[in-house]
Amino acid sequence: MPELPEVEVVRRGLDDHVRGRMIAAAVIRHPRAARRHMAGPEDLAARMIGATVTGTARRGKYLWLILDDRDALLMHLGMSGQLLITSSDVAVAPHERARFTFTDGGIGLRFDDQRTFGHLMYDEGGAGLPSPIAHIARDPFDPQFDQPAVVARIKTRRAGIKRALLDQTLLSGIGNIYADEALWAAKVHGDTAASSMTKPRISAVIDAARDVMAAALAQGGTSFDSLYVDVAGSSGYFSRRLNVYGLAGQPCTRCGTLIVRERFINRSSHFCPVCQQKR
Ligand SMILES: [Zn+2]
Repeated sequence: MPELPEVEVVRRGLDDHVRGRMIAAAVIRHPRAARRHMAGPEDLAARMIGATVTGTARRGKYLWLILDDRDALLMHLGMSGQLLITSSDVAVAPHERARFTFTDGGIGLRFDDQRTFGHLMYDEGGAGLPSPIAHIARDPFDPQFDQPAVVARIKTRRAGIKRALLDQTLLSGIGNIYADEALWAAKVHGDTAASSMTKPRISAVIDAARDVMAAALAQGGTSFDSLYVDVAGSSGYFSRRLNVYGLAGQPCTRCGTLIVRERFINRSSHFCPVCQQKR
């Protein structure tokens, strides 16, 4: 599942290819891709025609095309969504959900999504921040991310720190993988009550999350070529750098203790039982 670094890699790749270009045609090939666009796929496609992409933006795991400096095409990659740069003469791909072509006749844009959890929607006036995601907090890479304020809010929570890290109304963009990695890096057990932690400890966990995501971003940012915006969805793309996620039974790289996997809500948590003791 693409997390913040993968989505940011996609955004950067997209920006390079679509900024300043006018959309000539849009085809939504699967209704699920537009299921959150209440007026339906035909309406979504019609609104795209003639719009100029004036920029791209991201908040957490959502990204959007800024259209005519006013509206937004909001996109979520879901579990397996990919935005691909595609030549206009390429045949429709098996999992292709939408395709956009541009008035300059150059390379087009495709949304492929095998598992169809991803979606696209048009938001009028949403250039700055699309209304459907107005409740999502800023992420740790946002220049306006107010870390002391976020730390103070997290400290009011009695739930485990991992649960707080995943709460997109507190801070966004941290998913299960990077939450586990950040907690390992900061040597904190995910079940530790946030309210029992000092503010510097909570802040250190956020710093760790930013660091591990920045490392993944640096790695992903080097893999572009002109035809392939992204490999999000091919799981394990950044996994070479992971220290705990998906590594149950393997030795902790810091202390040699075997990494443990436990159920967490409907997912899993991975941690080192020695480096990350519950206090
Ligand atoms: Zn360890």
